[in-house]
Amino acid sequence: MLRIEDVWKSYGDEEVLRGIDLTVDRGDVEVLVGPSGSGKSTLLRCLNRLTEVDQGQIYLEDLEVTAADTNPDTVRQQIGMVFQDINLFTHLTARKNITLGLRKVRGMSAEEARHRADAELERVGLADQAESYPAQLSGGQKQRVGIARALAMDPEVMLFDEPTSALDPELSNEVLEVMAELVADGMTMVVVTHEMRFARGGASGITFLADGEIVERGPPDELFENPTHERTERFFESIR
Ligand code: ADP
Ligand code: MG
Repeated sequence: MLRIEDVWKSYGDEEVLRGIDLTVDRGDVEVLVGPSGSGKSTLLRCLNRLTEVDQGQIYLEDLEVTAADTNPDTVRQQIGMVFQDINLFTHLTARKNITLGLRKVRGMSAEEARHRADAELERVGLADQAESYPAQLSGGQKQRVGIARALAMDPEVMLFDEPTSALDPELSNEVLEVMAELVADGMTMVVVTHEMRFARGGASGITFLADGEIVERGPPDELFENPTHERTERFFESIR
C-alpha cells in the first residue's frame, strides 16, 4: 500500500535520509525506531509532503506522493499525521478543531461535519469533551483529539511521530490504548515510538534507522530477541 523507494534527503550538506527503501502492506503497522537525529521524523514528513525528498519516490497505492504535480493536500487527506507536540487550535473547542478541516477540505455541511466530529470523538473516548477547549484537556486528551481529527479525514494510512513522548506514563497509556484499537480495526500505520510494549503488541514490523539508513528490519520478536546488528542490539538495550 505504501512504497518508499530509494529516498534521499539532505539539509545543507547533512545527509539525513540516505537511500531509504520500505514497503508497508495494507493493515500493517510499521514501527520506526532509532536514535535521536537518525531521520525518523524527516521520513514521516516526506510521507505526507511536509518535506520534499531530494531523490527517490514514495507511492500510496497508485498515487505518487512525491510527484511534483501531486497536490500535497490530496496526500494529507489520505495520509493522516499525529505529531509529538499536540498542535490543536487553542481558540477552538475539541469539536471545532475537527470540523474545521472537514468543512474546508472535505466540503462537508456544518451538520455533517459536526456529526462526523462527534463520532470520532466518541471513537477516542472523548464524547463528553466536544465543547472543551484544549486548555481544559489533559495532554492525553489533547493527543486523542489530534487522533480524532486525523481519523475524521478517512485516511488510508496514519502516521504517528512519537505521540506519547511528551506525556506522563498514565496519559501515554490512554493514547496507546486508542492506537491499539486502530491496530485492531486494521488501520495501516507507520509509528515512530520508543514504547516497546506497543511495538511488541501492535507492530507487524520494526524498522531500526540510524544515520539516515535502515540498519535492520524484521518482525518484532526477531528484532528484539535476535537482532543481527550489534548497533540494533545496543539501541534496544539503551531504551529497555
Ligand atoms: P529523528 O526524528 O530521528 O530524531 P529528524 O528527522 O528530526 O530525526 O532529524 C534528522 C536530522 O536532520 C537531524 O540532524 C536534524 O537536526 C536535521 N533536520 C531535521 N529537520 C531539519 C530542518 N528543517 N532543517 C535543518 N535540519 C533539519
Ligand atoms: Mg523525531
